[in-house]
Amino acid sequence: MPISYLPQSVNPLSEGNPRFDFERHPSIIVWELTRACSSGGRIFPRRKRDSFELSTREALRFIEQAVAARPSLLMIAGGDLTERPDLNDILGTAFNHGLRVGLHPVASPNLLKVDFAALKQLGVMQLSLDLHGSTAESHDHFAGVEGSWEWITQSLVRGKQEGLQIQINTVFTHQNLGEFEPMVQLIAKLAPDVWNVSQYLPREAAKPSELFNGTESEAFLKALSKAKLGLTCEVTTSDTPQFRRVSLQNSDPDLMKNLAAKSINDGRGLVFVTHLGEIRPGPHLPINTGNVRESKLLDIYRNNQVFRGLRNPALLKGKCGYCEYNSICGGSRGRAYGTTGDYLAQDPVCIYEPKSRPNDGTDSWRMYCDD
Ligand code: SF4
Repeated sequence: MPISYLPQSVNPLSEGNPRFDFERHPSIIVWELTRACSSGGRIFPRRKRDSFELSTREALRFIEQAVAARPSLLMIAGGDLTERPDLNDILGTAFNHGLRVGLHPVASPNLLKVDFAALKQLGVMQLSLDLHGSTAESHDHFAGVEGSWEWITQSLVRGKQEGLQIQINTVFTHQNLGEFEPMVQLIAKLAPDVWNVSQYLPREAAKPSELFNGTESEAFLKALSKAKLGLTCEVTTSDTPQFRRVSLQNSDPDLMKNLAAKSINDGRGLVFVTHLGEIRPGPHLPINTGNVRESKLLDIYRNNQVFRGLRNPALLKGKCGYCEYNSICGGSRGRAYGTTGDYLAQDPVCIYEPKSRPNDGTDSWRMYCDD
């Protein structure tokens, strides 16, 4: 599932909170409310609701846990969220508790029936949808769902008309790399608030031959960094935190403004809750650290050793451990885990050679991120 957990448009630091402390609170909670999906496709196979997913009562109880965690955003993701008949109750409860909520549903024909004005009234701030090609043909082929380009583009336009913040998520692989320039042009035309770009990780919905190697990934990120300069929206990445390093190397003024907020990574400002209530450091790091049915989300986030380890750049292995960019990058923990089975291992795709060496005391971008 491509995710959308870097909504700088609702960035706490941009609202006068100069020290958002990721040791104490996650900035983003991504909650996979359901995996039900009627349309099927590359990312989400067709399936019904899991009978063990959180019940309405458990979901409403979880909202209280989310409130206690004081995130800047609760991103409710799916699955086809319209498959949850209690969605409005959940949204209303979140709104009444003052949570800022975004929705990231998987596309299905049901999207065409969604009343975005009503969602806005229920406090939804952001609509996040996946678009992997600049035309119906290229997107539908990549997603493996005929008709989904139409459902998505119509929904983006309608959501924007109702005043929702819009995030478009695009995954690139060898298969759709030729779509990069046309996608940049489409993004300029659609003018979302955020364009979130990612690459598949090992063992995700792509064949190994579709994945970028280190050189290709670096070239891709440089092209993205260049394209960003011509776009008015924010450009973020998921599971490719090296983009921050590449952007800094290009002296990107936007990134320089707010480094700490942009250092979010698995377990560091981010926590993921599955449809079964399992608590994980991120959507692409499948390590269960507890379950909201019996554990407190905030307690796990603050104290579980997996989370604590992920927030300590010094524990990262290989060159990620001594890289001068590790506090704002840290590598993709999901890629490290998917490749090696070790969530603290060096990100195998990054080709950057750190200037520092282990424990040589070289200045680090950490000074911008640590209290
Ligand atoms: S070596 Fe690791 S921390 Fe440094 S830029 Fe590469 S992935 Fe990021």
